[in-house]
Amino acid sequence: MAPRVVVIGAGVYGAAVAASLVRRGAQVSVVDAGAPAGGTSGATLAWVNSCGKQPRHYHDLNVAGMAAHRKLAAEVPHGRWYHESGNLEWAGDEAAEEGLRRKVAGVLGYGYEARWLTRAEALRLEPDMDPVRLPADGIAYFPREGWLEPTRLVGYLLSGVVSRGGELVRDDAVIGLEVAAGLVRTVRLASGRRLAADAVVNCAGPRAAGIAELAGLVLPMRNTFGVLVYTSPVAVWASHVVHAPHVHLRPDGGGRLLLHTGTTDGAAHVSGTGETSVDQSAVDLVLEAARTLYPGIRAATVESVRVGERAIPADGLPVLGRTLELPNFHFAVSHSGATLCLHAGALVAAEVLGDDHTTVLAPYRFERLQLVR
Ligand SMILES: Cc1cc2nc3c(=O)[nH]c(=O)nc-3n(C[C@H](O)[C@H](O)[C@H](O)COP(=O)(O)OP(=O)(O)OC[C@H]3O[C@@H](n4cnc5c(N)ncnc54)[C@H](O)[C@@H]3O)c2cc1C
Repeated sequence: MAPRVVVIGAGVYGAAVAASLVRRGAQVSVVDAGAPAGGTSGATLAWVNSCGKQPRHYHDLNVAGMAAHRKLAAEVPHGRWYHESGNLEWAGDEAAEEGLRRKVAGVLGYGYEARWLTRAEALRLEPDMDPVRLPADGIAYFPREGWLEPTRLVGYLLSGVVSRGGELVRDDAVIGLEVAAGLVRTVRLASGRRLAADAVVNCAGPRAAGIAELAGLVLPMRNTFGVLVYTSPVAVWASHVVHAPHVHLRPDGGGRLLLHTGTTDGAAHVSGTGETSVDQSAVDLVLEAARTLYPGIRAATVESVRVGERAIPADGLPVLGRTLELPNFHFAVSHSGATLCLHAGALVAAEVLGDDHTTVLAPYRFERLQLVR
């Protein structure tokens, strides 16, 4: 009989794990407390990259994540969720220049594609940028990076799960896990439903620690919030991911731009009841930085502002695969999930069904975090 697997969470990780499980013949239920892609996967920059990720094994995992996106996009030519646009980055001061030089040297040393462009070369890629905002040279270009439309990808993957006989349960939170004789046996939902399980995969993103706790496990996390500013549609030619000193941006479909900076993240506030707000002055600043870089978007307005919560395990690295204490309880939790989801999700799914991927997954085991608490 096909193993019954309950996947908790329908973000990029849950969708990727579930899609891989059904392709391998498992009987899958994906359960989400809300709507698919309604969590972090719906509020992310989703820059697909391995730019400066350390240590080496984590860089390699992200490179494999990039390759997995490329492969799936080639298999589904009309999918249009994956955009391998390339990424441009330059520094605003000497310290940042030194950091960028070190980053480029580091990734080149790993065999990653990167090169330095002059202003004229960068303008050939992004002709609507204001030339005076660019340095004469020292613009780093990472041609194999890009960006993702996570909601579209989640839709495609979950559609495949359902069409292969899997179940998608929306708007029904997991509120309990029943453990007996060292295994999770039943997943309890807020609606009162009980799902029998041969295996459970925790893909609850920033809420993964709460799900682990239901199984009696402690998952230390240090989540952070990020602010994403979506402009109105603008008629400029912006087709790359761009990391400029005061604004990071990329296209977001329908002519919109998605704007972000590290400083704007600090303007997010979360109330005790979980409601988010963002200081308007920070939103105005990032919009102004984008308008300065692309003079053609002077008329752009802010269409929406979203606050996303990064799911970050305590040491910053992913938590992937089985747990020793509960061998049928698995994790697929990390930051950079937009980049990693397809590759890491497939590894986790394979392990759920008995394959051994210990060599790749060893640095990402849940147990290592029990030492850093
Ligand atoms: C501002 C920001 C920028 C980012 N930029 C990048 C980037 O450039 N590149 C990159 O690769 N990554 C980036 N990330 C990270 C990336 O977006 C995430 O790693 C990824 O989206 C996480 O996906 P997930 O499936 O783990 O979590 P989620 O998308 O949050 O999915 C988890 C799901 O679990 C559900 N859930 C929670 N609790 C329960 C419960 N009790 N019962 C049932 N369901 C439950 C939630 O409703 C949710 O839908 C960024 C994140 C943020 C916030």
